[in-house]
Amino acid sequence: MSSDVLTVFPTDPYWQPSRVGGTRAAALAAELAPVGRRTAPVPTEPRWHEGVVFVDCGSNFEAVGCRLCGTPLELTWWSQAVDARAVGGFEDLEVLMPCCAAVHSLNDLDYRWPCGFARFDVPIWNPERDWLEEWDLAAIGKVLGHPVRQVRAHY
Ligand SMILES: [Zn+2]
Repeated sequence: MSSDVLTVFPTDPYWQPSRVGGTRAAALAAELAPVGRRTAPVPTEPRWHEGVVFVDCGSNFEAVGCRLCGTPLELTWWSQAVDARAVGGFEDLEVLMPCCAAVHSLNDLDYRWPCGFARFDVPIWNPERDWLEEWDLAAIGKVLGHPVRQVRAHY
């Protein structure tokens, strides 16, 4: 049985909310994207991570490119860069781009579908809806106290 996970998380990969803010934001996310009934429902709960984690898009992953010069990146280069930063718990996300020699954050690469990095996230398992709208994200961000973005994964 495959699953879809819609994950909402702060735009700043290092930022973490208070317990109250994070819990309220997760409750609002659960209301805006109710969990579907086609599988045993997983409750939508906020997660605070000790270090930064990669928020992947599962089999929705198609490609990754440089946002600065538009060059598609070799997946082997990208996965080595991610593995190297993972050793340090992603304390440092900056990499030297092989295409244009700029220093850029792994968080800001051009991922298709979107992926990201976070120390706090709210995964919504098998939501009944597709992507959240801009105003939904704005509402969650307001409750959280920081702007949020979303990643949609398929496993
Ligand atoms: Zn580049």
